[in-house]
Amino acid sequence: MVTSTTPRQSESLPTIEYADVVVVGAGPGGAAAAAHLAARGREVVLLEKDRFPRDKVCGDGLTPRVIREMLDLGLEDEAHGRADGFAVQKGLRIHGGKTVMELPWPELDDWPGWGGTSTRKVFDETIARTAQRKGARLFEGHGATRPIWRDSSETRVAGVAWKSDDGREGEVRAPVVIAADGAGGPMGKHLGVKRREDRPMAVAARAYYRSPRADDPWISSFLDLTDAGGNLLSGYGWVFPLDDGTMNVGLGLLSTSREFQGSNYRKLLSSWATGMAPEWDTTPDNLVEPIRTGPIPMGFNRTPLHQRGVLLVGDSGGMVNPFNGEGISYAMEAAQLAADVVDHTLTTKRTSDLDRYDQELRRRIGGYYTLGKVFADLVGNPTVMHVCTQYGMPYRPLMLLVLKLMAHLTDAKPADTKDVIVNTLQRLAPAA
Ligand SMILES: Cc1cc2nc3c(=O)[nH]c(=O)nc-3n(C[C@H](O)[C@H](O)[C@H](O)COP(=O)(O)OP(=O)(O)OC[C@H]3O[C@@H](n4cnc5c(N)ncnc54)[C@H](O)[C@@H]3O)c2cc1C
Repeated sequence: MVTSTTPRQSESLPTIEYADVVVVGAGPGGAAAAAHLAARGREVVLLEKDRFPRDKVCGDGLTPRVIREMLDLGLEDEAHGRADGFAVQKGLRIHGGKTVMELPWPELDDWPGWGGTSTRKVFDETIARTAQRKGARLFEGHGATRPIWRDSSETRVAGVAWKSDDGREGEVRAPVVIAADGAGGPMGKHLGVKRREDRPMAVAARAYYRSPRADDPWISSFLDLTDAGGNLLSGYGWVFPLDDGTMNVGLGLLSTSREFQGSNYRKLLSSWATGMAPEWDTTPDNLVEPIRTGPIPMGFNRTPLHQRGVLLVGDSGGMVNPFNGEGISYAMEAAQLAADVVDHTLTTKRTSDLDRYDQELRRRIGGYYTLGKVFADLVGNPTVMHVCTQYGMPYRPLMLLVLKLMAHLTDAKPADTKDVIVNTLQRLAPAA
């Protein structure tokens, strides 16, 4: 039986190939963009430097925003947790101060009322195979090395150069390039896109532990962390249960916090995990593989999102939500918009039509990310965080509002006053 993750025979990429669009990177952003464009009948070449299944350092949390993107791609079984490697949960359990509160994902018209988890080994390959099934040509083990240009003045892209892991080299020529090569990919650097210092970022560490609590129906987040001796540690943590009997356990620090530079993230995570082992079984013996760390670029920290025929999608454009560190949905939502704009532009043949990608993304989430920057500045201050945890946490109606704000989940036609407050705040905030 062919499942959604059955690898297809890799075809060989000719030294010079032509396409309507070349997509660099088959993470959730690139694979979703390729899937949506191929579904519209466009010739898409999708280049991925690694080979699936491959790991990606992540919390593996799929919020209702990701679930909606999965449903849009036709991944019904995966979205409902019926496929191997996918689990679903009903909401978020927040631990802060002496309070533990269970907050179900909100019931809304615009968003599914559940979330899920899946390791990135499984999740990313599922989206990449979906892109292939819809007609995109995926070349694994093919890393893009640089954009190629129409002329020496480099005013307009003409495709990308690539190198494969068996040493071959070539070019894919296309009038549009989607750069979805993640936080450390080379495309942005070649375009001269710099990280914006006025935007927050985070660094996080994650580990997998075997645990009987891996079937927890809630994902958990922790606002204050302690070690086995009860000493306060820096950062915010999570425990996300997975379908395979393990839990993804991690912690992160925002660049606005004092301890951001110079912290040993792996050591912090081990100390926290040991401290909560009596409750969660996170002993060193249950650690499945070495702890890994990764950067989390937030709030559109690389702009412009379109230039010279190259569109930045996902982490390559720094699209992670500064409120909660969620980046998969924003990569996939941007991918869907990019597919729409690119498809239209390939018809009109007016390069300037690609600018709508940058404008529309900022219109949709720019104001929200401006609020996120203010939030990151505030919670980087331990006193503010302490006051919020002590006095705000026990108040359930406030926490339900905070969940809607932080998870960016409201109806466009407001269902209640919480939606009105969040929608108004993001409308009033100037776009990032
Ligand atoms: C510790 C940690 C925890 C996180 N937890 C969560 C979470 O729980 N939920 C959530 O929503 N987000 C989370 N995030 C953020 C999330 O991982 C990213 O926002 C998301 O992966 C962005 O997807 P992307 O497709 O833009 O980039 P990526 O997932 O990074 O994919 C980029 C792809 O491009 C490929 N690539 C790179 N260079 C080249 C090249 N030159 N040529 C070809 N291919 C190339 C890479 O191999 C990779 O496959 C977390 C991040 C970290 C670091």
